[in-house]
Amino acid sequence: MKKIKYGRQEVTKDDIDSVVKVLNSELLTQGPVVPEFEDALCNFTGANYAVASNSATSALHIACMALELGPGDILWTCPNTFVATSNCAIYCGASVDFIDIDPLSYNISIKDLENKLKAAKLSGKLPKIVIPVHLSGQPCQMQEINNLSKEYGFKIIEDASHAIGAKYKESLVGSCEYSDITVFSFHPVKIITTGEGGAALTNNDEIANKLRQHRSHGITSNPNEMMQRPKKELWNYQQITLGYNYRMTDICAALGISQMKRLSEIINKRHAIARRYDKELSSLPLSIPWQHPDTFSSYHLYIIRLDLDKITKTHPVIHDELLDLGILVNLHYIPVYRQPYYESMGFKAGYCPESESYHRDALSIPIYPTLTEQEQSQVITTLKKVIF
Ligand SMILES: *Cc1c(COP(=O)(O)O)cnc(C)c1O
Repeated sequence: MKKIKYGRQEVTKDDIDSVVKVLNSELLTQGPVVPEFEDALCNFTGANYAVASNSATSALHIACMALELGPGDILWTCPNTFVATSNCAIYCGASVDFIDIDPLSYNISIKDLENKLKAAKLSGKLPKIVIPVHLSGQPCQMQEINNLSKEYGFKIIEDASHAIGAKYKESLVGSCEYSDITVFSFHPVKIITTGEGGAALTNNDEIANKLRQHRSHGITSNPNEMMQRPKKELWNYQQITLGYNYRMTDICAALGISQMKRLSEIINKRHAIARRYDKELSSLPLSIPWQHPDTFSSYHLYIIRLDLDKITKTHPVIHDELLDLGILVNLHYIPVYRQPYYESMGFKAGYCPESESYHRDALSIPIYPTLTEQEQSQVITTLKKVIF
């Protein structure tokens, strides 16, 4: 019996050749290939600047730093995400709070966001940054979030780890039309991969500059940015702020450039798989992913919600039975604040009821570009056998 994972990378001969070319070249890092990958990201999304990093986690960290998040500040996100989305606030010494999800899209609820902003204004605890997460690749309602950011004065970082290739209204995710910064992940399970890797995109040149500085030790070699009078020596550089080594290597970037060339093909394949699931699973006691009319998803995940009132088994039993039959389903996500680390900050069960109810019945089923028709048939047959 073949085991089928919920997601996996596709690496082609061309991808391998591109990487080998860099391995045979003079520079493995800080050469010409990372800027080429950044250009490819800008060309694709329409953003002015892209800063590639060694993960989305580090991109989120430098994004918060570039927006000057610090002690005493508050960052809001939704709990239905990977822990990195909120950890970036803690890295900066800020605190985190969570907005519940919308019951249809499973993305941040605009109604809850608005209500919480109203209350926070009265109590003087408005957030400095809000991070909407485009779960499964379906963009959040960015126009509404952008309108609220103007009214309440917060900055927006889109966590688009799932969503390269997705569209909101007329613009591609990453264009930053409705946000200050957008972050992508290139972990192997995501839409395209660089091994480990991420990027922060922006249209603002000052933010782009800060992102680059924080990515590389807080160092500049631009005389105009130096804090002391530049010396004459050519190798002159100055550290002007605190930064990290969050750089991407040229080896990784070469893989990224090669993968980018197949991006639309990858998205098309994911859509074809999603359409077949939509059709074939519609008769089962579960809900298939609802799509907001303003969005075009990248379908990083295909999430079903079990209708437990109509099913004789429990969520964990269905999960285990599917695993036993080789369908390696997963759950995205346990609400972040239910993690022991966050509970130790005082968050408690019941805080975001919609996210918790989602957590009790959601499953991510296999979707990735190399999933064959036959393998998808195996997934569908197994789901029909188990879910009743
Ligand atoms: C994968 C992921 C991250 C972290 O990405 P890395 O590149 O692994 O650091 C952050 N947020 C979300 C929503 C993710 O899915």
